[in-house]
Amino acid sequence: MPRKLLWHRNDLRLHDHEVLSQLKTDDAFLPVYCFNPSALQAQPYGLRFPKMGALRLGFLREHLQALRQAYERRGQQLIIRWGDPETVIPGLARDFQADEVWTASEVTFEELADQRRVQAALGQTPLKLFSAHTLIDAAALPFPLTKLPRSFTGFRKRVECLDIFPAPRPAPTHLPSLAWPEEGGASPEPGAIPRASDFGLLQRTPDARTAFPFEGGEQAALEHLQSYIWDQQQVASYKETRNGLMGASYSSKFSPWLAAGALSARQIYAQLQAFETEVTANDSTYWLFFELLWRDYFRLVAARHGSSIFQQGGIQHRHMHYTGSQKAFERWSRGETTNTFVNACMQELRLTGYLSNRGRQNAASYLCHDLKVDWRWGAAWFEHCLLDYDPCSNWGNWMYIAGVGNGGQNRQFDVDKQASYYDPAGTFQSYWLKDWTAPA
Ligand code: FAD
Repeated sequence: MPRKLLWHRNDLRLHDHEVLSQLKTDDAFLPVYCFNPSALQAQPYGLRFPKMGALRLGFLREHLQALRQAYERRGQQLIIRWGDPETVIPGLARDFQADEVWTASEVTFEELADQRRVQAALGQTPLKLFSAHTLIDAAALPFPLTKLPRSFTGFRKRVECLDIFPAPRPAPTHLPSLAWPEEGGASPEPGAIPRASDFGLLQRTPDARTAFPFEGGEQAALEHLQSYIWDQQQVASYKETRNGLMGASYSSKFSPWLAAGALSARQIYAQLQAFETEVTANDSTYWLFFELLWRDYFRLVAARHGSSIFQQGGIQHRHMHYTGSQKAFERWSRGETTNTFVNACMQELRLTGYLSNRGRQNAASYLCHDLKVDWRWGAAWFEHCLLDYDPCSNWGNWMYIAGVGNGGQNRQFDVDKQASYYDPAGTFQSYWLKDWTAPA
């Protein structure tokens, strides 16, 4: 039996996991998570904040604690290390005498570079890839990636009726033990989960006003899935509520777990289909599927267009001219512009790591179209703040709004009109800007 090392990245779960579901009891198996300190490097463009902010780091800690416990319950140990993956992973693979190393395939620039460096350092030991992120089986798409439709609508119409949405795989009840080789020296220490203070960051917890008290880990994710779809049946009215700004239930709040892979999109879809069969199928249940397709689409766009998604001209390679200053950007990021709706959005984002889709669209549009600041600075700030940061969805949505992504070139929102439509009494703005008092 091959000796397998699993290098976890954004697949922090046991359910619907291709490698875990195929392990045999007599396999030798080593699961590893490597925290790469480059996540805490400053953003480019002269911006002075790290890529990963303290709230997302705290949330990642919770995912890792939960994953470690889930492994322990099945007789295994998650090894956690900090350092460059190209040093950590091949080192452990050598000591463990791994025949193969597995990791979930990624599509964006830095993640692909990590993959290439790890493979180079592994030498003859193969780095094998599996799919963990999408709803669609990308290998079954009816067109090659080079022919990915330019618009989401074109894409959706080609795929939504096809049988290319695999069912999720069940979580393993038992896992093979470590079987550390005698020649590999002492079996490895489990390793500590990184803390904000290890990197000179202040530890932070989300503000109590948060729309949703997110708790990391797959168990919390699966409980929330059960609650949203079955117990509360909020999915049945998703289409009417999804543009809301406040509260736990206007949208699914699945994104922070999806981004870390603590929840699989196929697991959501399987529950959604069961709900449609057993309870009701309506525009709302379809719309949740529709939004999950957007998520897949942005991933395919990133795979198709490579590093263009991080460039100012985007995938349209447009020449852009931004005149907004760094001061204007900083005021926007602190929620100190002259627009109170945007300020409320930016306060929520900064203090909780979450913001509604409607809030994100308006805040993004205001930065690049009204303040005329380079949209990439805004995308970098969202990357720093968001608990659900996902490179494909974040940079894909930002490109879209900046008019350099999929679809047309004019994606400006009339922010004042949006505020009077979605926040007519100013309740959201008051909540974040003035009237709120802390619970006793
Ligand atoms: P719901 O409305 O309940 O949607 C269900 C799921 O569908 C979401 O969890 C998400 O996986 C997917 N989805 C919904 N809308 C989109 C969308 N526009 N693009 C891609 N997937 C979508 N989403 C992220 O997951 N990570 C990001 O880094 C991110 N950055 C964004 C930046 C900007 C400027 C904008 C406008 C949107 C961004 N989004 C991002 C998309 C969207 O805002 C969030 O997915 C959504 O608000 C998350 O809340 P929810 O899970 O309750 O969403």
